[in-house]
Amino acid sequence: MSLQVILAGHNLDRQALEAHLAGQGEGLSLSPETLSAAYARISRDPRAVPEIREDARREVEKSRRSNRAIIFDMGHSSVAEHATFNLDVLGLSRLAVESLEHHRLASYTEKSQRYIRLEGEYVVPEEIRGTELEPAFRQRVEALAAFYGELAQALTAQAEREAEGKTRRRELESRANEDARYILPLCAQAQLGMTVNARSLELMIARAGAHPLAEVRALGQALFAAVSEIASSVIRYTEPSAYFLETPKALGQFVQAWQADDLHSAPLAADGEPFGLALIEHSPEPDQKVAEALLFAHGRNNWQSNLEGIKKTKSQQLQALFAQVYEHMKLWDTLPRAWETVHFTFELELSAAAFGQLKRHRMASLMSQPYDLSLGHTLPDSVRRVGLKDRFVEEANACEVLYARIAEHSPAAAPYILTNAHRRRVRFELNGRALGHFSRLRCDAEAQWDIRDIASAMVAEVQKVMPLAGAFYGGKDCVEDLHTQVRRKAD
Ligand SMILES: Cc1cc2nc3c(=O)[nH]c(=O)nc-3n(C[C@H](O)[C@H](O)[C@H](O)COP(=O)(O)OP(=O)(O)OC[C@H]3O[C@@H](n4cnc5c(N)ncnc54)[C@H](O)[C@@H]3O)c2cc1C
Repeated sequence: MSLQVILAGHNLDRQALEAHLAGQGEGLSLSPETLSAAYARISRDPRAVPEIREDARREVEKSRRSNRAIIFDMGHSSVAEHATFNLDVLGLSRLAVESLEHHRLASYTEKSQRYIRLEGEYVVPEEIRGTELEPAFRQRVEALAAFYGELAQALTAQAEREAEGKTRRRELESRANEDARYILPLCAQAQLGMTVNARSLELMIARAGAHPLAEVRALGQALFAAVSEIASSVIRYTEPSAYFLETPKALGQFVQAWQADDLHSAPLAADGEPFGLALIEHSPEPDQKVAEALLFAHGRNNWQSNLEGIKKTKSQQLQALFAQVYEHMKLWDTLPRAWETVHFTFELELSAAAFGQLKRHRMASLMSQPYDLSLGHTLPDSVRRVGLKDRFVEEANACEVLYARIAEHSPAAAPYILTNAHRRRVRFELNGRALGHFSRLRCDAEAQWDIRDIASAMVAEVQKVMPLAGAFYGGKDCVEDLHTQVRRKAD
């Protein structure tokens, strides 16, 4: 399947829709632009909001002019956020999905490689198409797809034996797919649904236009083509700026020249370890900091007196303070804002499979280096148990040989042939509240093992430096245990 972007939906003025459905909609616009235009006028127009909207939906050209003036000429860009689009994205490689989902102010739902057995649909990147590398690329991908099928079957059979008929076949297959996918390449195709507002979409399109991969540039054009007709006044600056085009290249050259004489740092993960992790930075005295913020939010003292009060407070009193927060907390409740006052930064070396999941957490700052062969790859334990470790490693190594050949021709396109098992180094920074949410989802028994192990190790590191405010971190499945532990400590 080739890349497709389909406009699946967008917001529109409800009264205009009702008029259309009643056969009285002539001249009324169903574009989301009229909502942006109407809301843009709210601050200066004395009329009630529905009246302003009525005008906007009747006079679409005037609405467009108003959008251009307010959003672009006056720089009131948040007005463009009132126009929202739902887009189906099909036939995009996993590698290109990483660039798309780099944008945090949007919502994505992807077909999971856990529940769907892939049938060998993949992207042959434009950088490789028609070159002497294309046959080798296709052969390698076909070999991976064949091994994936074999692995998925072997893992399902093994899971069936281990479950002794106690687990349903569908679930066993999904567990098998979850591990078999580690050998799938990053050129494997993905499908997703995305919901995004015009402001974020404009940025996505402009950034895509500057991307080194032709596929991502094509994605940018396809996104623009899908919305341009109904959103011309809210999405205008789609050309990549020199800042997008030149700065990453210039920075890359500058930093690489700077580091040319340095020795490369050793990986955090020793050979055979599933991932590398280090807590590289955190707010000083985080328990006290969260306590001080709680005192601020629920008391009348100023920051200085709270700080002095906390310094004199015994740990037991702090524990009792946090116990007030935890007492009625259910698994879906989030920690209060006071937890946003502390920050944790991790360096991680993780598989592409785990990265794919980590990047979905939008309340965090994630920076990633390119995939790095020196970091090795992550081998699912189940692959060892079915005796296919050597075949797995052979396949991954063969990808690395081809990676090196592609890199000589096009460094940006080389990762297409790496697998979900290959690794990269990332810097992941988040606040204590976002870490709480992350731990609920990712330390849970339902979570995929790779990201669950990483999330659990992150939580363990944080609990060493923030035992009290970190006491309630953990998966959904362990909230009751957390209550018991906290109450036992408080007694
Ligand atoms: C077991 C499991 C299976 C999964 N399977 C799939 C799958 O098959 N396909 C798939 O695509 N994804 C899947 N995911 C990923 C999941 O859908 C989320 O994208 C991911 O867990 C990030 O979590 P989040 O969206 O709750 O919050 P984060 O992005 O971590 O944000 C933290 C919180 O901020 C708030 N927030 C952030 N952005 C918004 C927003 N735009 N609007 C409103 N609130 C916002 C929410 O309160 C959110 O909980 C799976 C996750 C798990 C744990």
